[in-house]
Amino acid sequence: MSSVQSRLDLVLPRVEKPARYIGGEPYSVIREPGDDILRFCFCFSDTYEIGMSYMGMQILYNILNHTDHTYCERAFTPAEDMIAEMEKEGIPLFTIETKTPLSEMDMIGFTLQYELGYSNILLMLKLAGIPLNAKDRGEDDPLVVAGGPCAFNPEPLADFFDAFMVGDGENNLAALCELARERKLKGFSKREYLERAAKIEGVYIPSFYEPEKDADGRLTGYRKLNEAAPDRVLRAFIQDLDKEPFPRENIGPLTEIVHDRSVVEIMRGCTRGCRFCQAGMIYRPVRERSKETIFEIGKDQLASSGNSELSVLSLSTSDHSEFQAMAEMLMGYCIPRKISLSLPSLRLDNFAFKIMDEMQGLRKSGLTFAPEAGTQRLRDVINKNISEEEIFTALDKAIELGWNNVKLYFMIGLPTETDEDIAGIPDLAQRILDLAAYKNGGRRGRFSVSVSVANFIPKPFTPFQWCAQNSAEEFERKHQLLRKLFKNVKGATFHYHETYGSHLEAIFARGGRELCETLRLALDYGCRFDAWTEQFNEAGWRRALADSGIDDSYYALNELEPGSFMPWDMIDSGITNEYLVSEYRKALNAATTKDCRYGCNGCGVNRHVECRWGGIYE
Ligand code: SF4
Repeated sequence: MSSVQSRLDLVLPRVEKPARYIGGEPYSVIREPGDDILRFCFCFSDTYEIGMSYMGMQILYNILNHTDHTYCERAFTPAEDMIAEMEKEGIPLFTIETKTPLSEMDMIGFTLQYELGYSNILLMLKLAGIPLNAKDRGEDDPLVVAGGPCAFNPEPLADFFDAFMVGDGENNLAALCELARERKLKGFSKREYLERAAKIEGVYIPSFYEPEKDADGRLTGYRKLNEAAPDRVLRAFIQDLDKEPFPRENIGPLTEIVHDRSVVEIMRGCTRGCRFCQAGMIYRPVRERSKETIFEIGKDQLASSGNSELSVLSLSTSDHSEFQAMAEMLMGYCIPRKISLSLPSLRLDNFAFKIMDEMQGLRKSGLTFAPEAGTQRLRDVINKNISEEEIFTALDKAIELGWNNVKLYFMIGLPTETDEDIAGIPDLAQRILDLAAYKNGGRRGRFSVSVSVANFIPKPFTPFQWCAQNSAEEFERKHQLLRKLFKNVKGATFHYHETYGSHLEAIFARGGRELCETLRLALDYGCRFDAWTEQFNEAGWRRALADSGIDDSYYALNELEPGSFMPWDMIDSGITNEYLVSEYRKALNAATTKDCRYGCNGCGVNRHVECRWGGIYE
C-alpha cells in the first residue's frame, strides 16, 4: 500500500460517505502489480455512485483483469468535501484498489458518456498532478486514453488525450493495453507506441492530425501529420456479441449507488432509425446475445451478488429475436425467488402487458411511454414509428389492468417544430386523462400523467447533426407556453430541463478542437460537476466561452448545409454520409423510413461488417 493510505486514514472520518473511497468491495481485484504487468486505471468522471452504476466499467474491468498482461483498477471524481481534504493534506487522486496515485499508473482511460462530464476529466487529471495537455506529458507520464459514445466526436478533447478508442471497446482497449505493456518491457518511445496504436481498429491519435480551415475559419478537413495514421478511422466493431465475455460477478458497492442491481446486456444496436438518436446510429447493426447466454449470465450475477433486481440492457428490448422465450425464462427464475425483473424499452403490445402484469401484480409502477413529439407529423419527422392508435390501444389495456400513472417523455426544439406540435403535448396528456375517466365511469380517480420534456441536442452521426438547436430564449418561450397550457390539464404534472446545460451539450457535441481552450479556462473558472444542476456554473461557462473566443451560436444554433464537413468526419462510423443526408431530407418532408429488420434501408454499415438484415456488401 502506498503512503496515500496513511494520509487517507486521517481524512476519511471527516468526509461524507467514506465508502466511496475505501475499496475492498466484493469482486474488486487486488493483484500483485509486478513489473511485467501493465497498470491501468479506469476513470469515471463523476462520483462513485454514478460510475459504479455504469455497466461498461464492469465489462472492461472484468476483461482486463482476466488477462495476464493488465491489472485494471478504478478511480472516480471525489465529491467536493473530499477534494477539499485531499488538497489540504496533499493527497493526489488515487486508485480505489491499491491507493496508488494515478500519476504512477502506466495508462489511464476515461469513458466519455456525456459532454457535461468533460470538465470533471480535467479536474481528475489536475487532482492527479498529471499535465492536462498530451504534448506536455513526458515518456514517464501515464498514457491517457478515452472511449465511449462521445469519442465519436473526440475533437473538443483532442489536446488532452494520447488516443481515443471509437466504437465497441472490448477488443481495442485490451489491444492498446497489451501494446503499452510491450512498450513498458521493451522501453520504446511514446511516439512509436502511438504509431503502432494508430493501426489498431478504432484508434484515433489526435496529435497525428491537424485541422484545416478556410479563410473564414471554417473547418474544411484534416491534414495528416504522421504516415502511420489512417485517412479515416473506422470504428471498432464486435460481430458476435454472444461470444464476448460479460461479467458474472460485478463489483458489489459498499454504499448505496444509483442503480444497484444485476444487469445483462441482451442486444447492441437498434433497427428503428429514430433520426435524433445517436446510439441507434453508431451501434448499428444489431447484435444479440442468445437467450441461453442471457439466462446463464443473469442467474450467475444474481447468485454472486444476492441482488433482488435483474435488469436487461438494450435500446429496444422487444426487438430481440428471442424476446418472448427469453422473458419467460427470466420470469420463471425471478418470480419464485421474489426477484424483480426490469425489462425497459418495451413495445407495449399484449405480450409486454402480460409480462408486466405478472411481474408487478397489484403494485404497478408508472407505465413509461416516449412519444418524443406531440403530433403525428413531428413524430414522422423524427421517424419515431409510433402512431396515436398504438399509444391509445396500449393505454386502454394499461388502464384496464390497473395502471394509474403514465410517464410520458418528449423533446422540444426538434427540427421543423411549430407551436402546434408544442400544444400537442398537453393535448395528448389531456386525451389520456379523458380516456382514463371514460374507462372508470366518468371519474379520473387517482389516475395521473407525468410529462417530462427534454431539449433537442443535435448529435454527431445522426441525420439531424447539421440541424440548429433552439436558442435559450426560444426554449424558454416554449417552456412558458407549455406551463400555460398545462395549467388547464388537471391530473398532469410537467417537468422540463434547464436550457443552458443543453446549449453547452450541443456546443461540445458539435464543436471542434478550439473547445479545448474553453475547457481549460472553464476548469480555471471553477466549472465542474456540470451534470449536477445544483453545481452548474453558468457564469463560469459563459466567461470561458467568451475568453476563448468561441462563437457558441455557430456551434449550437447554426443550421449547417447538409453534407457539409463536420469536426468528426475523420471518423467512419460505418454509416455513409449519403444515408444521413437522405434521412435528413426525408425528415423535412415528414416522410418515414421503415424499421430495417423488414428490409434494408441502405445505411452502409454492411460495407465493412455483416448485418443480419442487410447482409454484407460485396
Ligand atoms: S445495413 Fe441495412 S439492415 Fe443493416 S443496419 Fe443498415 S439499413 Fe439496417
